[in-house]
Amino acid sequence: MNRVDNKVAIITGGGSGIGARTSQLMAEAGATVVVTDINFESAESTSQSIIAAGGKAMALRHDVTMNDDWESVIEETMLAYHHLDILVNNAGISGAGLPPLEEATLESWQTVMSINLDSVFLGTQKAVLCMKESGGSIVNISSIMGLVGGAGPAYNASKGGVRLLSKSVAVKCGEMGYPIRVNSVHPGYVWTPLVRNIVEHMEDDNITEEGLREMLTEKHPIGRLGTPDDIARGILFLASDDSSFITGSELVIDGGYTAI
Ligand code: NAP
Repeated sequence: MNRVDNKVAIITGGGSGIGARTSQLMAEAGATVVVTDINFESAESTSQSIIAAGGKAMALRHDVTMNDDWESVIEETMLAYHHLDILVNNAGISGAGLPPLEEATLESWQTVMSINLDSVFLGTQKAVLCMKESGGSIVNISSIMGLVGGAGPAYNASKGGVRLLSKSVAVKCGEMGYPIRVNSVHPGYVWTPLVRNIVEHMEDDNITEEGLREMLTEKHPIGRLGTPDDIARGILFLASDDSSFITGSELVIDGGYTAI
């Protein structure tokens, strides 16, 4: 079970949904977890849940779009634990509530890009600088919407960007002889605040949360939505040495959504 014993992991967006469960599972599997989130209270609550269960964690406030924030998160991690082995670039937004294609502005486009894609560039770059001698695993959370269209153009483009950024850095690390693996994860729909909140922004006011849930469930051949735990287990696999020959790859965890 201790698949990441003695490893230090930074997990962004760790205060909620997939990031919170990934932080807990990573700690259960032996890692020391730096839980970061733009909302410090939620990161602290995940961190406290880990400590209460006997694990090791610390919480940091972190806006993933800010280069300075990344530098302080890395600095505080190195000061506290002296190495970094795992980075999970998980923080993201759906872009629900932002204007659709024909009314979109450069600003609305860039809001999604900066949180979902620029952040992954910043984090990946900082982690490579930290890990290039000691090695490590970077896991970038994309989406099924990084493989097929079906969300807003900005969300699709940002998540498609995460997929290819991951492959590019995986290849570059290989060329440079850095012992760093980089992979992307592509979840199907998971019932987290990010998805639940979509209902508030749907054109049809008659659709309820339950209605949205049923509509989304129908798109997954397996007959249910994903859980944060379903996704966290795949992330843990890619973070651990169990996947030591896997880099530049994409792990689709979608209950068959993209198989149709
Ligand atoms: P979630 O429950 O909303 O969690 C995302 C977390 O990221 C929240 O705590 C959020 O804080 C935080 N965050 C937002 N902007 C941030 C920023 N600038 N800096 C740092 N943290 C920030 O969402 P989730 O569903 O777990 O999603 C996690 C990742 O999985 C995202 O990248 C998402 O695109 C991806 N994903 C999700 C699904 C799904 O169905 N849920 C499917 C495919 C991919 P606030 O709540 O305070 O904004």
